[in-house]
Amino acid sequence: MDLTTRLHLLDLIRLSASAESTCRAAERAARRASIRRKEAAGARRNLRLALRSAPSADAENALADAEREYEACEARAEAAGAHWRRAFSASERADARLGGALARTRYLTGSAEPRRKGARRTAEAALLSELAAMPKTLIRAAHALLVQSSAGKDSVVALDRVVRWAKAAGCLDKIVVVHADIGQDAEWPGVRDLAQQQAERYGLRFVVVKASVEFLGMVEKRGLWPDAQTRLCTSSLKRDEAAKFFTEIVNELGLDEQALIVNCLGIRAAESSSRRRKQELAIDHRASNGRRLVLTWHPVFHLTETEIWQEIVDQALDYHPVYDTLIPRLSCIFCILASFDVLVRAVRLCWVLGLPTPKTYVDLEQRIGHRFKDKFSLADVVAEAARQEAAEGPITWRRGDAIRHHLGDDAATAYLRRLALAA
Ligand code: SF4
Repeated sequence: MDLTTRLHLLDLIRLSASAESTCRAAERAARRASIRRKEAAGARRNLRLALRSAPSADAENALADAEREYEACEARAEAAGAHWRRAFSASERADARLGGALARTRYLTGSAEPRRKGARRTAEAALLSELAAMPKTLIRAAHALLVQSSAGKDSVVALDRVVRWAKAAGCLDKIVVVHADIGQDAEWPGVRDLAQQQAERYGLRFVVVKASVEFLGMVEKRGLWPDAQTRLCTSSLKRDEAAKFFTEIVNELGLDEQALIVNCLGIRAAESSSRRRKQELAIDHRASNGRRLVLTWHPVFHLTETEIWQEIVDQALDYHPVYDTLIPRLSCIFCILASFDVLVRAVRLCWVLGLPTPKTYVDLEQRIGHRFKDKFSLADVVAEAARQEAAEGPITWRRGDAIRHHLGDDAATAYLRRLALAA
């Protein structure tokens, strides 16, 4: 099957899923409107009885209000019901269209009802895993390749892989490196510059997206730290800002047809159980629409941490010195997902670098009265860091320690030599 047909099927899958979710939302709205109509009818009935048993001007006025409220509720319920019926028909049509298209392929056997039979999901998974296995074909088909870069180790390897495949496909000019700036107070120094250098190494366009409110401003405004369940920091400071850039890039492309945007992220399955549940290639249903089909691609999805470091050595990729202090992720200085020990190390590194971040965060924690994490506060973290500092003195590190730690001395020596030669 050719690529155009595969992409057409993926868009039909997207339309079917989107129509189904619109239909579900319309159904919920119609049920709510129906409940409100019943409540309004009950209130009107009670007021009619009250007026009959004790007539008064007040009771008449209250009944007139209840009649108006009931009429408004009835109109809303009818409109919501009509909307639901239209959404249901649209969903049936989208399913039928998809079912018809899938029936002509090997992705659907014996049924033209993709939603009811779960066939849509099966076909989606099969199509996406086939596409993920042919990166150069995918890159050639894309109108734009965005690489979301935090400047971290996984991002830099993902970028390098996409660049090598794009070079081989003759499509290097399609790549744009996108960095989400979440605020200088929250990030390690040099992160933004490193992301830019990593893009410039290949001569790529580099774009910084930034929300109007930074990380600390967002926490102050909400009076709450984000947590693993409500990762507002990722959704509002990174994902939503990246989505705005999709619109910009589609406008720049100015195509008459639907644009295919491949959005690459350096996410690995081995990082967490929630990441393991993701797919190497997926339709971004939220960001896709009639003007763009957005596929999220994780080019390093199956790599282990050791393999990431090996690629950094093999390709002589530059990484942030924070890793040499054996802090495992180049996230915010204090990431809400980090363990107690990593946060303690981050505090001690801040002290070596003369950063005010621990005090800024502890002050904020006290001001909003909400602990950084359920199990401990940042004040606890700073107290433990002070205890370790008194016992051991400031932390020290050498360039290459991250590689020494993961791959041994020889690998670190080879890496530093390659980096020096490339400079
Ligand atoms: S690094 Fe951690 S704290 Fe920072 S935005 Fe990501 S999840 Fe939130």
